[in-house]
Amino acid sequence: MSSRGEAPGPQPFEAESLDVSLGERQEEHREAVAIELSRKRKTRIIATLGPASESEERIGELIARGVDIFRFNMSHASPDWVRRISAFVRERSRSFGRNVGLLLDTQGPAIRTGDLAARLELHPGDKFTFTVRGDPSVDERSVAVNYDDLAQDLRVGDVVLVDNGVIQMKVLDKEGFRVRCEVVTPGVMGSRRHINLPGVRVNLPPLTHKDLQDIDLGVECQMDYFALSFVREANDVDLLRQILISRGSKAVIVAKIEDQAAVRNLPQILESADAIMIARGDLGIECPFEELPIIQRRIVKICLQKMKPVIVATHLLESMTQNPVPTRAEITDIANAVYEQADALMLSGETAAGRYPLECVSVLDRVIQRTERSGGAGYAALADLTEDQQKIASAAVHLADQVRAAAICVFTRQGKLTTAVSGLRPRCSPIYAFVGEEDLCRRLMLGYGTEPIVSRYPASQEEGIAIAEGELRKRGVISSGDKMILLSEVPLHSERARSVVFYRVE
Ligand code: PEP
Repeated sequence: MSSRGEAPGPQPFEAESLDVSLGERQEEHREAVAIELSRKRKTRIIATLGPASESEERIGELIARGVDIFRFNMSHASPDWVRRISAFVRERSRSFGRNVGLLLDTQGPAIRTGDLAARLELHPGDKFTFTVRGDPSVDERSVAVNYDDLAQDLRVGDVVLVDNGVIQMKVLDKEGFRVRCEVVTPGVMGSRRHINLPGVRVNLPPLTHKDLQDIDLGVECQMDYFALSFVREANDVDLLRQILISRGSKAVIVAKIEDQAAVRNLPQILESADAIMIARGDLGIECPFEELPIIQRRIVKICLQKMKPVIVATHLLESMTQNPVPTRAEITDIANAVYEQADALMLSGETAAGRYPLECVSVLDRVIQRTERSGGAGYAALADLTEDQQKIASAAVHLADQVRAAAICVFTRQGKLTTAVSGLRPRCSPIYAFVGEEDLCRRLMLGYGTEPIVSRYPASQEEGIAIAEGELRKRGVISSGDKMILLSEVPLHSERARSVVFYRVE
């Protein structure tokens, strides 16, 4: 966005294609593009890493195209792989002068089938049996499941969904540790498939043994965000918080909303979590699919009301795992999430295992930028301003909107004030968060419209203005005559007072 909040016209996304193997001038150009991308777009992009995106070179290209946070999906990643690839991300983001964040996504209490000797084709009307607790498979049309209470929790007539809902079955009867089902929709049953039991309260611990090991790994690799899968209640989040505190990690906790219990308990979960992910992959299976758009909108609205960052995840560009261009429906889905003013959009299989990971990021960037220029739903107007910090942020955002400020500069020690400013969704002014440490910069990357910058905390208002102006001039985002808003603390008597300053750049 330009210094006066006006946005440039649409760009062909091929024009932003970059080759990292080129020389030093291209290196500089790439850095300029990365900064340019971050400035123009308010909605953040999260990309999942995997075989399609794991090389250091590819990670650099993804950053250049606009990735703000990389996600490690622990359902698929091995510890050594996470150690190696997280080091690549740190290295490449340093070379771009960007504080790209790292997110570790736990597998959570997922129900999975065991191994099958051979893949099985299932047709409507076929009978299939699930067994638990070491009960031997009944025949070749059966498989063991890792959830001991399966037979106890399911009732005759309940629905069992296998492999992301592709194979639908209905429970016919139960006998001991066996559950006999009838196949309703056809599919091929393979080994270690994910099972969803819509509406069933699954009696698994919120953090499995594997999750606990993965959390230790995440702390070791200095992950900035931990996404907690299959959160059911606020206590699940509190448990992770205690573990992170005991390990000395200040990481942001993202609660993944992916089943009916989480939707029901959302107000309490929001109190405990730092951010929310609308995990539409599982949510769209666990809830009737026609409810999904309504649930998404409700979650975005309540997050904006409570001023908590929200991520819209999964299937944004699913067709691009195979094709170089998106479908019209995907473009519209992305535009809808941007219109709702979610903080971030997350790519999963598209960048982890798809054929066109770079193109996916460019498509997302392009659709986001265009949609942002067309305005947003304005749910931030519903924000509950309960804390003084939030009220100060509201005053600053209101002023910035009125004067169409070229920038809101926030000097912040813990990031809370920046999160409040971002949560209020300034209409045209980008937010520059000046913070003391790089790790806090990375934890602020999720914030809508926020560009974190490492800086010392100013001793006076004059020094704050000098730091902010110097940095923004260097980045070419302000020029003489621009209006700026600056939020910081100033000495007052023996204490410190919050100040909101409005001034023009000389
Ligand atoms: C989802 O279900 O949308 C999701 C992001 O979770 P996962 O990829 O871990 O299943």
